[in-house]
Amino acid sequence: MSTTPKALYRDEGVVLRTQKLGEADRIVTVLTRRHGKVRAVAKGVRRTKSKFGARLEPFSHVDLQLYTGRTLDIVSQAESIRSYGSVIAGDYPAYTAGTAVLETADRLTAEEKEPSLRLFLLVIGALRALSESTHPAGLVLDAFLLRAMSVAGWEPALGDCARCGIEGPHRHFSVPAGGTVCRECRPTGSAMPNPVTIGHLEALLSGDWATAEASESGQRREGSGLVAALLQWHLERGLRSLPLVDRSDAVPRRDVGLLREA
Ligand SMILES: [Zn+2]
Repeated sequence: MSTTPKALYRDEGVVLRTQKLGEADRIVTVLTRRHGKVRAVAKGVRRTKSKFGARLEPFSHVDLQLYTGRTLDIVSQAESIRSYGSVIAGDYPAYTAGTAVLETADRLTAEEKEPSLRLFLLVIGALRALSESTHPAGLVLDAFLLRAMSVAGWEPALGDCARCGIEGPHRHFSVPAGGTVCRECRPTGSAMPNPVTIGHLEALLSGDWATAEASESGQRREGSGLVAALLQWHLERGLRSLPLVDRSDAVPRRDVGLLREA
């Protein structure tokens, strides 16, 4: 066992996903506050008397002690800080939105152990909002996705032209260009969303919840479609969880497909 004090480290994190390993172990993927995304082995967690098995489920915010292994690190201790899972799992829209939050966080951290404090804080904020029903789940998800794209360096243009930077507002919106585009720059096939929808997305990005919550379902639906299309454009493969998000208060799913083709 390589439990030298040197190799031990401690951090807090949110469990993004788990995979079975062998008979009794599990690989947990955790987005930590200081060490970025960490994949670690939790030994014996699938045995019924495991002390920390239940603490290492998706949506759990945990305080971890780990030691560095040859390929994967090993979890030696896990204390629960807050478990969002049970509350979120009992609310279908919150659960599907939360699952998309976790998958997005996983996909945006391609490199392991690359610190991403801002993303960590966004994930914690989104899970807290979903578990406390602070805002409608669909809006929490779209606000998270817009901000997570910004953290990743893909902040969409929602006013000025995404290509030449000329001051907006502009009527055209191009997913490949990265947002609103002026008349001169607009590529063929650009969409023309309702200007109110762009204002709605700006409100979600900046945290103006009063404006975001005053939006009508048509704008929410159109906004969700644009956000999903932007995210799918940036990610190499689409998110598995995004088409499953329950937007019963807002979105017919086919809009997403339509926008991707736009
Ligand atoms: Zn332009």
